[in-house]
Amino acid sequence: LQAQLAQSNKMESLGRLAGGIAHDFNNVLHVISGNLEMMALRSNSQQAVGLNRIQTIQKSIDRASQLVQQMLLFSRKAESYKQSVDLNEEVEQTLHILERSVPKMISIETFLPDGLPPISADPVQVEQVLLNLGSNAEAAMPAGGRFIVETSDIFLDHDFVRMHTEAKEGRYICLSVSDTGHGMDDKTLNHVFDPFFTTKEIGKGTGLGLASVYGIVRAHDGFIRCYSEPGKGTTFHIYWPVVSTQKDGAKQKGQMSHQDLE
Ligand code: ADP
Repeated sequence: LQAQLAQSNKMESLGRLAGGIAHDFNNVLHVISGNLEMMALRSNSQQAVGLNRIQTIQKSIDRASQLVQQMLLFSRKAESYKQSVDLNEEVEQTLHILERSVPKMISIETFLPDGLPPISADPVQVEQVLLNLGSNAEAAMPAGGRFIVETSDIFLDHDFVRMHTEAKEGRYICLSVSDTGHGMDDKTLNHVFDPFFTTKEIGKGTGLGLASVYGIVRAHDGFIRCYSEPGKGTTFHIYWPVVSTQKDGAKQKGQMSHQDLE
């Protein structure tokens, strides 16, 4: 429990640090981008080379903006637009997107039982979670394998909550995402949600994928667990709270105190 508390505190301070940098960096990018746009508008056909350069710079700025966006998601400073979401529907839609890009040697399997209660979530962010987990799973299965997505309705009782510092007692939808890839050793597993932690070669990984997943899940008052075994595969369990009308008030109070802390 001590270790979990330390981990949770570490993520809080890393989040604050990343959020501060991302916020300022975002402002700088806006200034650069705005000025570039003006330059592009003013350049004429004789300056085609200049225009080309401007477009190249603009592409780099877009990439930098994506990184900043992921840092903002990790630090929970990104804006979110929550609505009532049918998680199964969201999973199906996102897997359609994934299916188009994932190689044929990877089979996508789903177990999505009917009748799950809705959750309060930002659909774009839920999609982001699945896409990030999917892209990591794909990277972990270069020779193919299985990508399995399951949902279940679960009540977490007092005993479970005692073992998981971020969790509150109540009803959740558990989204389980597994792959049969190369898995992770304990050292990797311990740092998997840290921003900028990556085992991928330079240019292939940013180390922000799982950090932003972590931030999104925490911004939804949920929590995430990762289980992995080298050579066997990896499983993520994401618990999304089911928001009942009665609990709504309590949730809002919780959010206010969180903002106070920040
Ligand atoms: P990135 O993908 O840019 O490296 P992430 O934050 O998404 O950043 O992942 C961090 C690291 O966690 C990866 O570099 C990899 O070592 C490990 N990892 C994440 N997902 C998996 C997975 N499904 N199987 C094995 N290792 C994984």
